[in-house]
Amino acid sequence: MEENTLARLPRTDSLLACPPLGDSTLPYAARREGARLALAELRESLRQNHDVALPALEVLARRSLELAEELCRPRLGRVVNATGVVLHTNLGRAPLSPRAAEAVRQVAQGYSNLEYDLDTGRRGSRTAGVEGLLCSLTGAEGAFVVNNNAAAVLLMLSALTPGLGVAISRGELVEIGGSFRVPDIMAQSGARLVEVGTTNKTKLADYAQALEYGRAQALLKVHPSNFKLVGFTQGVEPEALASLAARYAVPLLCDLGSGAPGPGPWPQDYPTIAKWLPHAQVLCCSGDKLLGGPQCGVLLGRREAVEKLKAHPLARVLRLDKLSLAALEGALLDWRDGVLPPVQAMLSVRPQALEERARALAETLSPFCPCRAVPCMGQAGGGALPGEELPSWAAELNPPGGPAELEAFLRARSTPVIGRIHGGKLLLDVRTLLAGDEEHIRAALAAWAEGQV
Ligand SMILES: *Cc1c(COP(=O)(O)O)cnc(C)c1O
Repeated sequence: MEENTLARLPRTDSLLACPPLGDSTLPYAARREGARLALAELRESLRQNHDVALPALEVLARRSLELAEELCRPRLGRVVNATGVVLHTNLGRAPLSPRAAEAVRQVAQGYSNLEYDLDTGRRGSRTAGVEGLLCSLTGAEGAFVVNNNAAAVLLMLSALTPGLGVAISRGELVEIGGSFRVPDIMAQSGARLVEVGTTNKTKLADYAQALEYGRAQALLKVHPSNFKLVGFTQGVEPEALASLAARYAVPLLCDLGSGAPGPGPWPQDYPTIAKWLPHAQVLCCSGDKLLGGPQCGVLLGRREAVEKLKAHPLARVLRLDKLSLAALEGALLDWRDGVLPPVQAMLSVRPQALEERARALAETLSPFCPCRAVPCMGQAGGGALPGEELPSWAAELNPPGGPAELEAFLRARSTPVIGRIHGGKLLLDVRTLLAGDEEHIRAALAAWAEGQV
Protein backbone atom coordinates (compact mmCIF):
# COMPACT_ATOMS: atom_id res chain seq x y z
CA MET A 1 0.00 0.00 0.00
CA GLU A 2 2.84 2.33 0.89
CA GLU A 3 4.39 1.61 -2.49
CA ASN A 4 1.11 2.64 -4.09
CA THR A 5 0.95 5.97 -2.31
CA LEU A 6 4.54 6.73 -3.17
CA ALA A 7 3.86 5.85 -6.78
CA ARG A 8 1.08 8.45 -6.82
CA LEU A 9 3.44 11.30 -5.87
CA PRO A 10 3.40 13.97 -8.58
CA ARG A 11 6.32 14.17 -10.96
CA THR A 12 8.72 17.08 -10.58
CA ASP A 13 7.72 18.31 -14.06
CA SER A 14 4.05 18.70 -13.21
CA LEU A 15 4.96 20.38 -9.93
CA LEU A 16 7.20 22.85 -11.77
CA ALA A 17 4.34 23.71 -14.12
CA CYS A 18 1.77 24.24 -11.36
CA PRO A 19 1.18 27.73 -9.89
CA PRO A 20 2.34 29.39 -7.79
CA LEU A 21 5.64 27.59 -8.42
CA GLY A 22 4.93 27.63 -12.16
CA ASP A 23 4.48 31.43 -12.15
CA SER A 24 7.53 32.19 -10.06
CA THR A 25 10.36 34.19 -11.61
CA LEU A 26 12.97 32.50 -9.43
CA PRO A 27 15.79 30.80 -11.35
CA TYR A 28 14.93 27.35 -12.71
CA ALA A 29 17.57 25.62 -10.58
CA ALA A 30 16.04 27.07 -7.39
CA ARG A 31 12.47 26.11 -8.39
CA ARG A 32 13.58 22.58 -9.25
CA GLU A 33 15.45 22.25 -5.94
CA GLY A 34 12.38 23.59 -4.07
CA ALA A 35 10.20 20.95 -5.79
CA ARG A 36 12.70 18.22 -4.99
CA LEU A 37 12.82 19.22 -1.33
CA ALA A 38 9.01 19.44 -1.07
CA LEU A 39 8.65 15.94 -2.57
CA ALA A 40 11.31 14.59 -0.23
CA GLU A 41 9.43 16.12 2.72
CA LEU A 42 6.21 14.50 1.60
CA ARG A 43 7.86 11.13 1.02
CA GLU A 44 9.26 11.27 4.55
CA SER A 45 5.90 12.08 6.13
CA LEU A 46 4.26 9.24 4.16
CA ARG A 47 6.91 6.87 5.44
CA GLN A 48 6.11 7.87 9.00
CA ASN A 49 2.37 7.84 8.62
CA HIS A 50 0.85 5.75 5.82
CA ASP A 51 -2.59 7.29 6.28
CA VAL A 52 -1.58 10.81 5.32
CA ALA A 53 -3.65 11.92 2.37
CA LEU A 54 -1.77 13.20 -0.67
CA PRO A 55 -2.02 17.01 -0.74
CA ALA A 56 -3.41 18.78 -3.79
CA LEU A 57 -0.86 19.67 -6.45
CA GLU A 58 -1.24 23.42 -5.75
CA VAL A 59 -0.53 22.88 -2.06
CA LEU A 60 2.65 21.04 -2.93
CA ALA A 61 3.58 23.74 -5.46
CA ARG A 62 3.15 26.44 -2.79
CA ARG A 63 5.37 24.49 -0.39
CA SER A 64 7.95 24.05 -3.17
CA LEU A 65 7.96 27.79 -3.78
CA GLU A 66 8.43 28.49 -0.08
CA LEU A 67 11.44 26.21 -0.02
CA ALA A 68 12.84 27.73 -3.22
CA GLU A 69 12.44 31.25 -1.79
CA GLU A 70 14.20 30.16 1.38
CA LEU A 71 17.14 28.97 -0.75
CA CYS A 72 17.41 32.36 -2.47
CA ARG A 73 16.70 34.80 0.34
CA PRO A 74 19.38 37.32 1.28
CA ARG A 75 21.69 36.05 3.99
CA LEU A 76 24.06 38.90 4.77
CA GLY A 77 22.61 41.88 6.59
CA ARG A 78 22.87 44.39 9.35
CA VAL A 79 22.63 43.17 12.95
CA VAL A 80 22.56 45.04 16.24
CA ASN A 81 25.67 44.14 18.22
CA ALA A 82 24.58 44.18 21.87
CA THR A 83 27.31 41.75 22.94
CA GLY A 84 29.67 44.47 24.12
CA VAL A 85 32.48 42.84 22.12
CA VAL A 86 33.85 45.74 20.12
CA LEU A 87 35.87 43.73 17.60
CA HIS A 88 33.63 40.75 16.97
CA THR A 89 34.97 38.77 14.02
CA ASN A 90 31.65 36.89 13.63
CA LEU A 91 29.80 40.21 13.46
CA GLY A 92 32.06 41.76 10.84
CA ARG A 93 34.77 43.35 13.01
CA ALA A 94 35.05 47.14 12.67
CA PRO A 95 32.00 49.18 11.60
CA LEU A 96 33.06 51.90 9.15
CA SER A 97 32.87 55.58 10.00
CA PRO A 98 30.31 57.69 8.11
CA ARG A 99 33.11 59.14 5.98
CA ALA A 100 34.51 55.73 5.06
CA ALA A 101 31.04 54.36 4.28
CA GLU A 102 30.26 57.38 2.10
CA ALA A 103 33.54 56.94 0.23
CA VAL A 104 32.51 53.36 -0.57
CA ARG A 105 29.11 54.48 -1.85
CA GLN A 106 30.66 57.09 -4.14
CA VAL A 107 33.09 54.68 -5.71
CA ALA A 108 30.61 51.80 -5.86
CA GLN A 109 27.88 53.63 -7.75
CA GLY A 110 29.98 55.34 -10.38
CA TYR A 111 33.26 55.25 -12.24
CA SER A 112 36.37 56.31 -10.38
CA ASN A 113 40.00 57.23 -11.01
CA LEU A 114 40.99 53.87 -9.51
CA GLU A 115 43.95 53.39 -11.85
CA TYR A 116 43.82 56.64 -13.79
CA ASP A 117 46.18 59.50 -13.17
CA LEU A 118 44.13 62.68 -13.41
CA ASP A 119 47.28 64.85 -13.76
CA THR A 120 48.65 63.11 -16.82
CA GLY A 121 45.53 61.47 -18.25
CA ARG A 122 47.41 58.18 -18.26
CA ARG A 123 47.26 54.96 -16.38
CA GLY A 124 48.01 55.44 -12.66
CA SER A 125 48.69 53.35 -9.59
CA ARG A 126 45.73 51.86 -7.77
CA THR A 127 47.26 52.18 -4.33
CA ALA A 128 49.34 55.38 -4.65
CA GLY A 129 46.72 57.48 -2.85
CA VAL A 130 46.48 55.43 0.31
CA GLU A 131 50.22 54.73 0.26
CA GLY A 132 50.92 58.46 0.43
CA LEU A 133 48.46 58.91 3.27
CA LEU A 134 49.84 55.94 5.19
CA CYS A 135 53.39 57.30 4.89
CA SER A 136 52.31 60.79 6.00
CA LEU A 137 50.38 59.42 8.97
CA THR A 138 52.97 56.95 10.24
CA GLY A 139 56.28 58.29 8.98
CA ALA A 140 56.94 55.08 7.04
CA GLU A 141 59.17 55.33 3.96
CA GLY A 142 57.00 52.94 2.01
CA ALA A 143 53.49 51.52 2.27
CA PHE A 144 51.41 48.95 0.46
CA VAL A 145 47.97 47.40 0.95
CA VAL A 146 46.54 43.97 0.16
CA ASN A 147 43.34 42.04 0.70
CA ASN A 148 43.75 41.19 4.39
CA ASN A 149 46.47 40.76 6.96
CA ALA A 150 46.87 37.04 6.30
CA ALA A 151 47.69 38.01 2.71
CA ALA A 152 50.08 40.69 3.96
CA VAL A 153 52.02 38.14 6.02
CA LEU A 154 52.18 35.76 3.07
CA LEU A 155 53.39 38.49 0.73
CA MET A 156 55.94 39.82 3.22
CA LEU A 157 57.52 36.41 3.71
CA SER A 158 57.25 35.34 0.07
CA ALA A 159 58.91 38.51 -1.19
CA LEU A 160 61.51 39.11 1.51
CA THR A 161 62.55 35.74 2.93
CA PRO A 162 62.03 33.01 0.29
CA GLY A 163 64.24 30.04 1.09
CA LEU A 164 65.59 31.74 4.21
CA GLY A 165 65.45 30.52 7.78
CA VAL A 166 63.14 32.80 9.75
CA ALA A 167 63.52 32.83 13.53
CA ILE A 168 60.31 33.14 15.51
CA SER A 169 59.56 32.67 19.20
CA ARG A 170 57.80 29.42 20.15
CA GLY A 171 55.29 31.60 22.01
CA GLU A 172 54.27 33.25 18.73
CA LEU A 173 53.48 30.22 16.56
CA VAL A 174 49.83 31.15 16.78
CA GLU A 175 46.60 30.26 15.06
CA ILE A 176 44.45 33.32 14.42
CA GLY A 177 41.29 31.41 13.57
CA GLY A 178 39.81 30.58 10.21
CA SER A 179 42.87 28.34 9.68
CA PHE A 180 45.46 31.13 9.61
CA ARG A 181 48.40 29.43 11.30
CA VAL A 182 51.80 31.07 11.33
CA PRO A 183 53.76 27.84 10.58
CA ASP A 184 51.48 27.02 7.61
CA ILE A 185 51.70 30.50 6.12
CA MET A 186 55.44 30.38 6.53
CA ALA A 187 55.68 27.03 4.74
CA GLN A 188 53.46 28.37 1.97
CA SER A 189 55.76 31.37 1.51
CA GLY A 190 58.84 29.21 1.04
CA ALA A 191 60.48 30.48 4.23
CA ARG A 192 61.94 27.98 6.67
CA LEU A 193 60.60 28.11 10.21
CA VAL A 194 63.30 28.32 12.88
CA GLU A 195 61.70 28.07 16.32
CA VAL A 196 63.51 29.81 19.14
CA GLY A 197 62.94 30.07 22.89
CA THR A 198 60.07 28.38 24.68
CA THR A 199 56.32 28.83 24.82
CA ASN A 200 56.42 31.21 27.76
CA LYS A 201 59.90 32.73 27.62
CA THR A 202 62.00 33.84 24.70
CA LYS A 203 65.19 35.83 25.29
CA LEU A 204 67.40 37.88 23.05
CA ALA A 205 70.06 35.18 23.36
CA ASP A 206 67.65 32.64 21.82
CA TYR A 207 67.33 34.76 18.67
CA ALA A 208 71.08 35.49 18.69
CA GLN A 209 71.89 31.78 18.79
CA ALA A 210 69.77 31.06 15.71
CA LEU A 211 71.57 33.85 13.83
CA GLU A 212 75.04 33.01 15.13
CA TYR A 213 74.93 29.43 13.89
CA GLY A 214 73.45 30.44 10.55
CA ARG A 215 70.16 28.63 11.10
CA ALA A 216 68.20 31.84 10.54
CA GLN A 217 68.69 34.76 8.15
CA ALA A 218 65.67 36.81 9.25
CA LEU A 219 63.63 37.56 12.37
CA LEU A 220 59.85 37.52 12.59
CA LYS A 221 57.80 38.99 15.41
CA VAL A 222 54.12 38.00 15.58
CA HIS A 223 51.77 39.59 18.04
CA PRO A 224 49.73 36.74 19.60
CA SER A 225 46.65 38.87 19.39
CA ASN A 226 43.97 36.37 20.31
CA PHE A 227 45.36 34.92 23.51
CA LYS A 228 47.41 36.15 26.41
CA LEU A 229 50.36 34.59 28.18
CA VAL A 230 50.31 35.41 31.87
CA GLY A 231 52.61 34.46 34.70
CA PHE A 232 56.22 33.40 34.20
CA THR A 233 56.78 34.99 30.81
CA GLN A 234 59.39 36.98 28.94
CA GLY A 235 59.66 38.53 25.51
CA VAL A 236 62.09 40.84 23.77
CA GLU A 237 61.58 44.58 23.31
CA PRO A 238 61.54 45.94 19.74
CA GLU A 239 64.71 48.00 20.30
CA ALA A 240 66.76 44.99 21.38
CA LEU A 241 65.44 42.81 18.58
CA ALA A 242 66.17 45.54 16.04
CA SER A 243 69.76 46.04 17.15
CA LEU A 244 70.33 42.29 17.01
CA ALA A 245 68.94 42.23 13.47
CA ALA A 246 71.21 45.15 12.53
CA ARG A 247 74.27 43.43 14.04
CA TYR A 248 73.73 40.41 11.82
CA ALA A 249 72.43 42.50 8.90
CA VAL A 250 69.19 40.48 8.66
CA PRO A 251 65.67 41.85 8.25
CA LEU A 252 63.28 42.14 11.19
CA LEU A 253 59.70 41.58 10.05
CA CYS A 254 56.65 42.06 12.21
CA ASP A 255 53.01 40.93 12.10
CA LEU A 256 51.31 43.32 14.50
CA GLY A 257 47.84 41.88 13.98
CA SER A 258 45.54 44.57 15.23
CA GLY A 259 47.12 47.75 13.89
CA ALA A 260 46.67 50.05 16.87
CA PRO A 261 48.25 53.27 15.57
CA GLY A 262 49.81 54.64 18.76
CA PRO A 263 48.82 55.29 22.36
CA GLY A 264 45.07 54.81 22.79
CA PRO A 265 42.42 53.02 24.79
CA TRP A 266 44.54 49.87 25.16
CA PRO A 267 47.31 48.83 27.58
CA GLN A 268 50.45 50.94 27.55
CA ASP A 269 52.71 48.05 26.52
CA TYR A 270 50.42 47.20 23.59
CA PRO A 271 52.36 46.65 20.34
CA THR A 272 51.41 49.65 18.22
CA ILE A 273 52.50 50.79 14.77
CA ALA A 274 54.28 53.80 16.30
CA LYS A 275 56.28 51.53 18.58
CA TRP A 276 57.35 48.91 16.02
CA LEU A 277 57.71 50.86 12.79
CA PRO A 278 61.09 52.44 13.63
CA HIS A 279 62.53 48.98 14.27
CA ALA A 280 61.04 46.72 11.61
CA GLN A 281 62.13 46.46 8.00
CA VAL A 282 58.47 45.77 7.23
CA LEU A 283 55.47 45.41 9.52
CA CYS A 284 51.92 44.43 8.67
CA CYS A 285 48.51 44.62 10.34
CA SER A 286 44.79 44.22 9.69
CA GLY A 287 42.74 47.16 8.47
CA ASP A 288 39.58 46.16 10.31
CA LYS A 289 40.76 45.63 13.85
CA LEU A 290 41.90 48.55 16.02
CA LEU A 291 42.70 50.63 12.94
CA GLY A 292 38.93 50.71 12.49
CA GLY A 293 38.78 50.54 8.68
CA PRO A 294 37.75 47.92 6.11
CA GLN A 295 39.11 44.41 5.76
CA CYS A 296 42.59 44.79 4.30
CA GLY A 297 46.22 44.18 5.11
CA VAL A 298 48.46 47.20 5.62
CA LEU A 299 52.21 46.90 5.04
CA LEU A 300 54.62 49.61 6.19
CA GLY A 301 58.38 49.82 6.17
CA ARG A 302 61.64 50.66 4.41
CA ARG A 303 61.38 51.87 0.84
CA GLU A 304 63.41 49.15 -0.93
CA ALA A 305 61.69 46.37 1.01
CA VAL A 306 58.23 47.71 0.18
CA GLU A 307 59.24 48.02 -3.49
CA LYS A 308 60.07 44.31 -3.43
CA LEU A 309 56.60 43.55 -2.09
CA LYS A 310 54.96 45.53 -4.87
CA ALA A 311 57.03 43.81 -7.54
CA HIS A 312 56.22 40.28 -6.36
CA PRO A 313 53.69 38.32 -8.49
CA LEU A 314 51.56 37.68 -5.39
CA ALA A 315 50.95 41.44 -5.09
CA ARG A 316 48.54 41.18 -8.02
CA VAL A 317 46.93 38.01 -6.69
CA LEU A 318 46.28 39.61 -3.32
CA ARG A 319 45.34 43.06 -4.50
CA LEU A 320 42.75 45.13 -2.70
CA ASP A 321 39.38 45.80 -4.39
CA LYS A 322 38.21 49.34 -5.08
CA LEU A 323 35.48 49.37 -2.42
CA SER A 324 37.88 48.47 0.36
CA LEU A 325 40.37 50.95 -1.03
CA ALA A 326 37.77 53.71 -0.87
CA ALA A 327 36.84 52.74 2.69
CA LEU A 328 40.48 52.67 3.73
CA GLU A 329 41.06 56.13 2.32
CA GLY A 330 38.04 57.41 4.27
CA ALA A 331 39.35 55.81 7.46
CA LEU A 332 42.81 57.30 6.92
CA LEU A 333 41.34 60.78 6.33
CA ASP A 334 39.54 60.43 9.67
CA TRP A 335 42.87 59.53 11.24
CA ARG A 336 44.47 62.62 9.61
CA ASP A 337 41.73 64.83 11.05
CA GLY A 338 41.84 63.31 14.52
CA VAL A 339 38.39 61.71 14.18
CA LEU A 340 38.33 58.45 16.15
CA PRO A 341 37.05 55.46 14.16
CA PRO A 342 33.93 53.83 15.69
CA VAL A 343 35.89 50.99 17.34
CA GLN A 344 38.28 53.35 19.08
CA ALA A 345 35.41 55.61 20.12
CA MET A 346 33.59 52.60 21.61
CA LEU A 347 36.68 51.61 23.55
CA SER A 348 37.04 55.15 24.91
CA VAL A 349 33.47 55.81 26.11
CA ARG A 350 33.30 57.01 29.71
CA PRO A 351 31.61 54.57 32.12
CA GLN A 352 29.17 57.27 33.15
CA ALA A 353 27.96 57.72 29.57
CA LEU A 354 27.48 53.95 29.31
CA GLU A 355 25.51 53.91 32.54
CA GLU A 356 23.22 56.69 31.34
CA ARG A 357 22.65 54.95 28.04
CA ALA A 358 21.88 51.62 29.74
CA ARG A 359 19.43 53.30 32.13
CA ALA A 360 17.63 54.99 29.25
CA LEU A 361 17.46 51.71 27.30
CA ALA A 362 16.18 49.77 30.32
CA GLU A 363 13.47 52.35 30.84
CA THR A 364 12.41 52.08 27.19
CA LEU A 365 12.21 48.30 27.39
CA SER A 366 10.52 47.97 30.80
CA PRO A 367 6.96 48.18 29.44
CA PHE A 368 7.65 44.98 27.46
CA CYS A 369 9.78 42.87 29.78
CA PRO A 370 11.17 43.09 33.33
CA CYS A 371 14.36 45.05 32.81
CA ARG A 372 16.98 47.08 34.67
CA ALA A 373 20.36 48.65 34.01
CA VAL A 374 23.31 46.72 35.42
CA PRO A 375 27.09 47.09 35.34
CA CYS A 376 28.70 44.20 33.47
CA MET A 377 31.99 43.00 32.04
CA GLY A 378 32.47 43.30 28.29
CA GLN A 379 35.42 42.41 26.11
CA ALA A 380 37.39 44.49 23.67
CA GLY A 381 37.46 41.51 21.32
CA GLY A 382 39.35 38.26 21.24
CA GLY A 383 41.11 39.13 18.01
CA ALA A 384 42.85 42.23 19.31
CA LEU A 385 42.82 42.63 23.06
CA PRO A 386 42.52 39.13 24.53
CA GLY A 387 41.75 38.96 28.20
CA GLU A 388 41.16 42.72 28.43
CA GLU A 389 37.96 42.96 30.42
CA LEU A 390 36.07 46.16 29.84
CA PRO A 391 33.75 47.31 32.59
CA SER A 392 30.53 48.25 30.81
CA TRP A 393 26.78 48.69 31.32
CA ALA A 394 23.87 46.69 29.98
CA ALA A 395 20.11 46.50 29.96
CA GLU A 396 19.39 43.23 31.76
CA LEU A 397 16.22 41.51 30.56
CA ASN A 398 14.61 38.99 32.85
CA PRO A 399 11.68 37.40 31.01
CA PRO A 400 9.44 35.17 33.17
CA GLY A 401 10.24 31.95 31.29
CA GLY A 402 14.04 32.44 31.22
CA PRO A 403 16.14 34.19 28.57
CA ALA A 404 16.59 31.47 25.93
CA GLU A 405 13.35 32.02 24.04
CA LEU A 406 13.72 35.82 24.02
CA GLU A 407 17.36 35.55 22.91
CA ALA A 408 16.32 33.35 19.96
CA PHE A 409 13.42 35.68 19.11
CA LEU A 410 15.71 38.71 18.96
CA ARG A 411 18.18 36.79 16.83
CA ALA A 412 15.46 35.86 14.32
CA ARG A 413 14.27 39.46 13.70
CA SER A 414 14.70 41.02 10.26
CA THR A 415 17.26 43.26 11.98
CA PRO A 416 18.61 40.71 14.45
CA VAL A 417 19.61 41.85 17.92
CA ILE A 418 22.54 39.85 19.30
CA GLY A 419 22.90 39.91 23.07
CA ARG A 420 24.38 37.46 25.51
CA ILE A 421 22.96 35.27 28.23
CA HIS A 422 24.64 35.63 31.60
CA GLY A 423 23.48 34.27 34.93
CA GLY A 424 20.03 33.38 33.62
CA LYS A 425 19.38 36.87 32.22
CA LEU A 426 19.73 38.37 28.76
CA LEU A 427 22.26 41.21 28.71
CA LEU A 428 22.20 43.92 26.06
CA ASP A 429 25.53 45.73 26.44
CA VAL A 430 25.26 49.34 25.31
CA ARG A 431 28.95 49.88 24.51
CA THR A 432 28.65 48.40 21.03
CA LEU A 433 25.31 49.97 20.08
CA LEU A 434 25.38 52.35 17.12
CA ALA A 435 23.13 55.36 16.64
CA GLY A 436 19.55 54.23 16.10
CA ASP A 437 20.07 50.72 17.49
CA GLU A 438 17.90 51.47 20.52
CA GLU A 439 14.91 51.87 18.23
CA HIS A 440 15.52 48.42 16.64
CA ILE A 441 15.73 46.91 20.11
CA ARG A 442 12.57 48.65 21.31
CA ALA A 443 10.63 47.49 18.24
CA ALA A 444 11.91 43.93 18.71
CA LEU A 445 10.89 43.84 22.37
CA ALA A 446 7.47 45.30 21.54
CA ALA A 447 6.92 42.55 18.95
CA TRP A 448 8.05 39.94 21.43
CA ALA A 449 5.70 41.24 24.14
CA GLU A 450 2.82 41.18 21.66
CA GLY A 451 3.45 37.48 21.05
CA GLN A 452 3.42 36.74 24.78
CA VAL A 453 -0.26 37.55 25.46
C1 LIG B 1 44.05 39.03 12.88
C2 LIG B 1 45.45 38.62 12.65
C3 LIG B 1 45.84 38.10 11.41
C4 LIG B 1 44.88 37.91 10.29
O1 LIG B 1 44.42 39.13 9.83
P1 LIG B 1 43.21 39.20 8.77
O2 LIG B 1 43.11 40.63 8.45
O3 LIG B 1 42.03 38.63 9.49
O4 LIG B 1 43.59 38.35 7.61
C5 LIG B 1 47.17 37.75 11.25
N1 LIG B 1 48.06 37.90 12.24
C6 LIG B 1 47.71 38.41 13.45
C7 LIG B 1 48.75 38.53 14.51
C8 LIG B 1 46.39 38.79 13.68
O5 LIG B 1 46.05 39.27 14.88
